[in-house]
Amino acid sequence: MIQLTSPHFDNTYVKLPEQFYAHQKPTPVSAPQLIRVNHALAAQLGISTEWLASAQGLQILAGNDIAPGSEPIATAYAGHQFGGWNPRLGDGRAVLLGEIIGTDGKRYDLQLKGAGRTPFARGGDGRSPLGPVLREYVVSEAMAALGVPTSRSLAAVATGEQVMRESPQPGGILTRVSSSHIRIGTFQYFDGIGDVEGVRALADHVIARHYPESAKAARPYVALLQSVIAKQAELIAQWQQLGFIHGVMNTDNMLVSGETIDYGPCAFMDEYDANTVFSSIDRGGRYAYANQPAIGQWNLAWLARVLLPLLDPDEDAAIEAAQQAIDGYVTLYHSAYNELMAKKLGLNRNSEASVILIAELLELMAAAQADYTLTFRRLAEIASPHLGFESVADIFELPDNLALWAEKWRALLAREETTAVQRQEQMLALNPAFIARNHLVEEVIRKAVDENDLRPFHQLVERLGAPCDFQLADAHYARPPAAEQRVLNTFCGT
Ligand code: AMP
Ligand code: MG
Repeated sequence: MIQLTSPHFDNTYVKLPEQFYAHQKPTPVSAPQLIRVNHALAAQLGISTEWLASAQGLQILAGNDIAPGSEPIATAYAGHQFGGWNPRLGDGRAVLLGEIIGTDGKRYDLQLKGAGRTPFARGGDGRSPLGPVLREYVVSEAMAALGVPTSRSLAAVATGEQVMRESPQPGGILTRVSSSHIRIGTFQYFDGIGDVEGVRALADHVIARHYPESAKAARPYVALLQSVIAKQAELIAQWQQLGFIHGVMNTDNMLVSGETIDYGPCAFMDEYDANTVFSSIDRGGRYAYANQPAIGQWNLAWLARVLLPLLDPDEDAAIEAAQQAIDGYVTLYHSAYNELMAKKLGLNRNSEASVILIAELLELMAAAQADYTLTFRRLAEIASPHLGFESVADIFELPDNLALWAEKWRALLAREETTAVQRQEQMLALNPAFIARNHLVEEVIRKAVDENDLRPFHQLVERLGAPCDFQLADAHYARPPAAEQRVLNTFCGT
């Protein structure tokens, strides 16, 4: 007989002061159905997939039953949404089941998103339509496969109930996993209610949980701020090098752990255009691709501000430490971005010449409206005459305007210590052929929601699990959208 054991919980957030959360059980649903379980992630977390996919597991993923050791809560947070302050947001439709320790020894939150109303729900119904659940599953797992720090998707279920949006939609629940769900907005919440001791308790929790080395610094909270800034700079550099647009970089959607979270109206760029905005709710283009690095700094400045009373007993010294940390972001971001971009081009020595080369390339790509992902992929393919892989040449041609640029690139490559084949291997591993293109994501959601056909969703998730392993048979997944497939606006539809 298979031993069906539920995960072993070890909850620390519930031990924080009572103003941090509300005890809140998920609201049961009538006819839950399992859509997908993430076997690889379950294994990493030490959760039995047999248990997850069992009748009992499904009841827990649907919020109909509470696993032993789980102490479900909704957490409090505030945030700046599109620049406007909102003192009370919180988990309006998400329930944190608790924390578990993975087989890697790391701590993970298990959260149900779409599990019913909480005291933070305001006017919302606490639910999520299935479409956004599938979108978050596809894109978060694609990001993980690309090596980007991110929340993960452990499971998706359909609730068997309808939720009312512009039209009635099938409901869904996502089981989200992340190393914590603590946001910049969580810090802002306690500052907003004048609770400096709350800010301190949260900072201590975050240091113990995410940045233990900060505890040893002369000024631990300054070290904490610097660490969060460094993590965020690296994260946004990763987004930029992949052409990923988050879409809703509100301070409540930025985790202090440095993982990507809240995949709403997000998207990967098709043709390169730094001004790309996808989100239908981002009318001013605040969260356009090119603005993401600066918005990251804006958000971090709020964290710095909220931490001020902890940074130094002397107010001027506290302000100076905060300012220095925030100013440091710019250098951290640029060096992370320049290094990633140089590596994408096979250049391990990030120099002034490589920075210029990258800027020139992007300018030429913009002029030619070249596909961002496939341009880099094709450059990897031509980095050496060696041909031990399937090529995207059938579906993509490099724009003609790159000819002169390519000569300069080759001249720089010639100065590298690696061999052409080594460089190419590196480039093929860093430049994906398959990304979660918006039209593909929309297509699988339509199939699932309108035709109850989940196969395209499963196939897309699986294909995006190996983004750098191009196969001609799967060219459909690599192709940019045809004119009629283009998704001009992504609705969050939450
Ligand atoms: P998001 O846009 O998902 O980052 O959510 C922003 C805020 O709105 C958070 O406080 C959410 O919990 C809340 N929220 C979003 N959708 C709902 C819903 N359907 N019911 C209740 N609260 C919601
Ligand atoms: Mg959010």
